Amino acid sequence: MEVNNSEIITREMIAEDLRNAGIVRGDILNLKISLKSIGKVEGGADTVIDALLDVVGEEGTLVADSFVEPFPVFLRFMYKNRISDDSSLSYAGAITNAITKRNDVFRATHPIQRFAAIGRYAKELTENFTAESEPYGFLKQMAQMEAKNIRIGGKDKVVGVGTTHVAICDLKLKQKKIAKGIYYKDSSGKIKFFRAGWANGCPVGFNNLIDVFRENGKIFSEGKVGEAECIVTSMKDTLAFEMELLKKDPSVFLCSNPTCHFCSFTWKASKYTFFHAFRSALSKKKIKKIINLTAVYLLGQYFPKH
Ligand SMILES: [Zn+2]
Repeated sequence: MEVNNSEIITREMIAEDLRNAGIVRGDILNLKISLKSIGKVEGGADTVIDALLDVVGEEGTLVADSFVEPFPVFLRFMYKNRISDDSSLSYAGAITNAITKRNDVFRATHPIQRFAAIGRYAKELTENFTAESEPYGFLKQMAQMEAKNIRIGGKDKVVGVGTTHVAICDLKLKQKKIAKGIYYKDSSGKIKFFRAGWANGCPVGFNNLIDVFRENGKIFSEGKVGEAECIVTSMKDTLAFEMELLKKDPSVFLCSNPTCHFCSFTWKASKYTFFHAFRSALSKKKIKKIINLTAVYLLGQYFPKH
């Protein structure tokens, strides 16, 4: 729907835009939504969620990646009181945190990847995703269930199509980084420490792939929701495509910034060395960056380990 910048955006307008963007009844949706990008939404984040539910109906499912921020393992003594549980807020934004507060929400018990879901398959998806699960196994299962990924917002606000991490983990691409983790309660209520042992990705590098998906016909549909661009993809299609892409070139998801702490020298497949990163950060007088990169170089370890 065409909106001018001062217009208030309603639940009905969002629902209409979602239908026009290819969302249908019964869809299982992985949500990547920037609320601010949509415009002035009457009622805020809950209105967007209600509109999504209007379109997918009772037989549909909404999933939000309500991840909890871990901290560096060597600083764990400072975080003894921060215990990941169902009420832990996510760093993933307004829509995600609004979903975690819904009455009918189910949340995974994985200490960091506490996915939140509502709708038909919410319980089934979340109940078996625990500290012992394969990292990003949740999204892999969604891909197998023919779920769609919906991005609402520009490349500066929303990251990826939901499956790139799955491909990176499945191919066991190694990244050097500082170990991170978080405290959590296991099923018997005992407090334990969970160590994250998987590789991470770069927002810029992941979003560079959007154009590659488009050029190769891997975008299911595109449109607008309010003022924001909306891209819908089949998670099964993007995952299969990314597996092929990454097998051919394991550096395809890295950005070109030599000082990027996600990319740079940290991946086995990166063209940069620590020397490139250090020299570039030094020439830009980025002191904090120099400290971060040096810490990863000296203290980091490769993940995954096997
Ligand atoms: Zn990067």
